[in-house]
Amino acid sequence: MLIKKLIKKSKFQVMKESMKGRIRGYLWKSKEFIEKSKLSLKCQKECQLIISLFKSKLNNNDYFSHYFDRTSQKEDRLCDNRGWFSCQGAFNKKFCKMSHTINPYSSKDSRVLFSTWNLDHKVEKSREFLPQSVKAIKECPPGKQVNVNYFYSLLFTSENLKLVDIRCHAKERHSTELVDKEKTYI
Ligand SMILES: [Zn+2]
Repeated sequence: MLIKKLIKKSKFQVMKESMKGRIRGYLWKSKEFIEKSKLSLKCQKECQLIISLFKSKLNNNDYFSHYFDRTSQKEDRLCDNRGWFSCQGAFNKKFCKMSHTINPYSSKDSRVLFSTWNLDHKVEKSREFLPQSVKAIKECPPGKQVNVNYFYSLLFTSENLKLVDIRCHAKERHSTELVDKEKTYI
């Protein structure tokens, strides 16, 4: 009984860690992009400030580990209470017509397979989000500031992330999903 309990705990920890790993990846990608962009010292400082705000918000949200945790509150997780995840369909579809499902809690093999499921950014991370955020920082009008909460929600939250089976991961440009210029500054 005790061993069973330990196994259960480790599975749930593994899942939480895998979610955190994905989120950390988005943060690293952003840092990398900023480093490659040729920015003025002022913009570099602004970027560093935003990254540190992201980090502290992520710490408060435990890097969204609850998305993959079947023991979390219903509204906080992407699976059901047994650990079944359903594909949410391509970025431009309302749902998955093929009803892809997976339970990474069931076996190691399904966890391996689950790693091919993508958290697809509707507003794309590399093609749209990163260049537009750097542009927003560069072109920030006097008296305004970049809407950190909005950019945070695009990069890390389920408002902009869709969990998809690899077969529903559309590789083409998401030309209908763009950074909302109205929400760029506050
Ligand atoms: Zn699907």
